[in-house]
Amino acid sequence: MGEILRVDQATKTYGKQGEKQYQALKGINFALEEGEFVAVMGASGSGKTTLLNLLATLDKPTSGHIFINHQDNSALNANQLADFRSRQIGFIFQDFNLLENLTNRENIALPLSLRGVPSRRIDPLVEQIATRLGIKQILPKYPAEVSGGQKQRVAAARALVHEPAILLADEPTGALDSTSAQELLDTLADLNQNDGITTLMVTHDPYAASFASRILFIKDGKIGEQLLKSGLARQQFYHLLIDHLGNGE
Ligand code: ADP
Ligand code: MG
Repeated sequence: MGEILRVDQATKTYGKQGEKQYQALKGINFALEEGEFVAVMGASGSGKTTLLNLLATLDKPTSGHIFINHQDNSALNANQLADFRSRQIGFIFQDFNLLENLTNRENIALPLSLRGVPSRRIDPLVEQIATRLGIKQILPKYPAEVSGGQKQRVAAARALVHEPAILLADEPTGALDSTSAQELLDTLADLNQNDGITTLMVTHDPYAASFASRILFIKDGKIGEQLLKSGLARQQFYHLLIDHLGNGE
């Protein structure tokens, strides 16, 4: 299987030169193979969102390179970047980021309608992903009319409708109650295992991280060692992770 993502010596410094600066990422290196489900786990302020924004091409690294599907993002201009993002990347946010004045159906269709795909081609794709995620019956409703768990499924459908190379998720269960959180994590694991969706999720939550098959730890803008699920059941992996965290990591 091919490499979907490579992060090569990426750094990110906030603040202009001469002003107060803060280096949020200090030389990040890792890669994801096609079909992997990887969690990046770290405390609040460790750089998770900064990293994910670089991967999503919403922000640029101060130095270093990010390759998605072997394409170096820093080589693209703003228009090319927007086009690249709309084809290759799916993104789920902690707070859903749905447009409240659009129906769930219109929200899911957005990545395709923005790209000018005709609605006769969009409709079956929206139906298909909505069926897969169990939200077909709420397509005519507005985001405000459905639960948090359903909103995040709508957001997941929007992130996947254009069949991106990679799904990126920033604390996707952060705003959900524990039952909805578990359902969403089960869904992400199922999409990964059965539909081969390559997924990178950042989280501070060990329970959420235990659904991945590999966990990278980020601390003070640097990635340390990793933990592999390697055949363990999710619950065993969770206990391994808790032990690991208890040992001062
Ligand atoms: P996490 O998502 O792991 O909580 P972030 O990536 O949001 O961490 O933030 C990492 C560090 O960078 C934090 O110390 C944060 O205060 C700082 N930071 C994040 N965004 C900005 C910004 N736009 N300007 C300045 N500092 C920022
Ligand atoms: Mg964050």
